[in-house]
Amino acid sequence: MSAVRIDGKAAAAELLAITSHEVGKLKADGIVPSLTVILVGDDPASDVYVRNKVQRAQEVGILSIEHRLPANTSQEHLLALIEALNGDASVHGILVQLPLPRHISEQAVIQSLDPLKDVDGFHSHNVGSLAQGLPSFVPCTPAGCLQLLQGVVAELSGKHAVIVGRSNIVGKPMAALLLKADCTVTILHSRSRNVAALCRLADIVVVAAGRPKLVTSDWIKPGAVVIDVGINRVRDLDRARLVGDVDYDDVATVAAALTPVPGGVGPMTIANLMANTVLAARQQSQLKR
Ligand code: NDP
Repeated sequence: MSAVRIDGKAAAAELLAITSHEVGKLKADGIVPSLTVILVGDDPASDVYVRNKVQRAQEVGILSIEHRLPANTSQEHLLALIEALNGDASVHGILVQLPLPRHISEQAVIQSLDPLKDVDGFHSHNVGSLAQGLPSFVPCTPAGCLQLLQGVVAELSGKHAVIVGRSNIVGKPMAALLLKADCTVTILHSRSRNVAALCRLADIVVVAAGRPKLVTSDWIKPGAVVIDVGINRVRDLDRARLVGDVDYDDVATVAAALTPVPGGVGPMTIANLMANTVLAARQQSQLKR
């Protein structure tokens, strides 16, 4: 068997086209959706992510503003900036690129965001709403994983989904989304026992462990659908390249469908950030009326 390669770039292009159309409608109503991105420090991977987000925002017509702050920025300074942005009606979405330097508390920063501008969906208000199945900003990566799954799995209801990883930004919100879609959900983590055997029970496997090529064909039930969230930078013959948490060529021999890295989940993350920014702009404009 050779698996279907799930094309995240194509799916993201579709979502971006819809988002761009929505931006046009908002602009016709006199609202220019805007996204402010804050980067603290000079982590090279974060720099690439921020550049990609800003570029994609510009492409769909979202006004994007960057705040690049030095690594020694104090937490007080960052919180004061966020407070000012929270109070600025022309700013609809605020994204603080993670990770932050060690001396800054990520939780303090996330909790300081106005939940209505929290387009990453990390504030506890949005996390709680998602957990309760209420409307909220859904974190962009799991939202993208769900959309890719919906493109290849006709009926999610009743499927057994195994998620490898329990982070706040991927694993836990992914579990909430799949539960909402009526899947039976198992979450695995570094202390779980029999990880491969539990994965082999799954109809759907979402891997967000940050371990290059952790998942091999013997972890996967024939015909399962596999979503690889991992982005790992490895050196191969002296060249840096990206690999996922799944050994693509090996798993492709047993899975029904799987996402490549790059070109799978990554583009969907950015596309959902744009969609969330448009949603934020629409909600805030409705509140003002
Ligand atoms: P974290 O490091 O925050 O979490 C990793 C999770 O995987 C933890 O829950 C950890 O368990 C678990 N884990 C680690 N090793 C194993 C193992 N051998 N078996 C089972 N579970 C394991 O990572 P993130 O969730 O932030 O990111 C995961 C990956 O996804 C990374 O490669 C990251 O770069 C990528 N990523 C990609 C995005 C995209 O747009 N495509 C967006 C966000 C992240 P424990 O909790 O016990 O430590």
